[in-house]
Amino acid sequence: MNAYPASVDVAIVGSGPTGATYARILTERAPHATIAMFEVGPTVSQPPGAHVKNIEDAEQRTHAQRRSEGPGAGSATVNSPGAVRSGERRARPGTYLLADGFQADGEDGLPVVAFSSNVGGMAAHWTGACPRPGGSERIGFIPDMDELLDDADRLLGVTTDAFDAAPFTSLVRERLAAVVDEGRDEAARVQRMPLAVHRREDGRLVWSGSDVVLGDVTRSNPGFSLFDESLVTRVLVEDGRAAGVVVRDLSTGDEHEIRARVVVVAADALRTPQVLWASGIRPAALGRMLNDQSQVVYAARLRDVDPPREDQIAASGALSEQSGVSWVPFTDDMPFHGQIMQLDASPVPLADDDPVVPGSIVGLGLFCVKDLQWDDRVEFSDSELDSYGMPAMRVHYRLTDRDHDVLDRARAQIVELARAVGEPIGEHPFTMPLGASLHYQGTTRMGETEDGRSVCGPDSEVWGVSGLFVAGNGVIPTSTACNPTLTSVALAIRGARRIASALAYV
Ligand code: FAD
Repeated sequence: MNAYPASVDVAIVGSGPTGATYARILTERAPHATIAMFEVGPTVSQPPGAHVKNIEDAEQRTHAQRRSEGPGAGSATVNSPGAVRSGERRARPGTYLLADGFQADGEDGLPVVAFSSNVGGMAAHWTGACPRPGGSERIGFIPDMDELLDDADRLLGVTTDAFDAAPFTSLVRERLAAVVDEGRDEAARVQRMPLAVHRREDGRLVWSGSDVVLGDVTRSNPGFSLFDESLVTRVLVEDGRAAGVVVRDLSTGDEHEIRARVVVVAADALRTPQVLWASGIRPAALGRMLNDQSQVVYAARLRDVDPPREDQIAASGALSEQSGVSWVPFTDDMPFHGQIMQLDASPVPLADDDPVVPGSIVGLGLFCVKDLQWDDRVEFSDSELDSYGMPAMRVHYRLTDRDHDVLDRARAQIVELARAVGEPIGEHPFTMPLGASLHYQGTTRMGETEDGRSVCGPDSEVWGVSGLFVAGNGVIPTSTACNPTLTSVALAIRGARRIASALAYV
């Protein structure tokens, strides 16, 4: 049973990296503020929010993943993009799928749209790729974006050198660069992928989750508390201002009202609009402009390479399914983002008498931009409920002719990249089922002005409801192909700084 406070300065809904960003920045900038964070899922790792890949015991790691799968716990999962080729509708470990409502008749839908319900959210399970947006991915009306991205790197503990000692990483980048780099600005050339990971002195990798974003400074803040297994059913609004939240303690089923001066909803790109809808906050753009990054994957094998030395194999990182990640940045001319990972095993079976040189299998993935559409949306029901008792979701989603064109170009490009790297594995690239990117955006989008096409302003405060902030990938208004979390954390930093300066004057 949770012992909730009667009132706090700031209530945060959701404990993923963007909710954690609000807690961290407020701790740093408004140290006397009281902050309560509510998370519907359980605590599955220590410190709370830590990445499950840091759990060394395989059984305990699997247990932590299972406990993050909310209503989907117990369902079969797939481990790698390659395994998704089976064509079955399965979630990745640590996530669960929508049981229904993922595809309307005659539409493409998002068949594998997924969620995580645990302290730390999806970032207890993520790959940690933290590229910066470029070209049209960037939000034109946020002038301080570069400084915010720098601070987001700090909070997420982003590094670029964790895999430098791993085998063949420079070779892979050189081969990719030979077909990609010509005519590109330096920032858009092939390079190491910035990753939210660091190496301990003993060589082990430590993947960042919300625990790193919170940091010791937040954990030791006496004004900060985190309540798990606590579902926020609605935000209280009085006289056009956020006034608190209603929380259901899942251990007792009892509901509690907690008063707050400011409420931040950071409950992922589908559940943040769900909480707003359930609270009667329903701006026209809520849930709309939903976008996901279509994804194409392929693999290649480096040939004629010497087996790596023992120390290089160790340096590739125990407890990691990958040993190096390279980045082919998005450009407006080539509107996809390349995440190239050296894998410890082939995604498709290889002949028994053809042993794999560790680090020589290269998994290629291209994420595509979406042609944003007002009608692509998540709707919420006034009568049906989901398994948490929240308004049931129904996804409407279609690929346009432009989307199909970009996908065709991505398929051609990935074949070119695979051939440049080595010998392609398999005859054709594979197009992942929609929703597989796990990068859903646009549903609580930010706008420069209150023009009816956005949900919040440049500081993430919801238009027309002062003191209510939204956070997460849903806030991103542009069509991005790069992994979005760094950008969402940067936008959350901006919102949190705004709250911190406002709290200083009340
Ligand atoms: P989340 O991390 O989803 O957290 C939201 C939290 O809110 C959840 O814990 C949820 O349980 C909670 N919640 C929801 N509703 C309520 C409610 N009503 N009351 C209380 N709590 C609620 N992104 C990248 O940028 N790079 C990558 O390399 C990458 N790889 C990924 C790989 C995998 C396998 C997965 C699963 C995700 C990956 N992602 C990646 C996506 C990334 O994890 C998300 O972008 C990021 O976690 C979003 O942060 P968030 O705080 O907005 O939401």
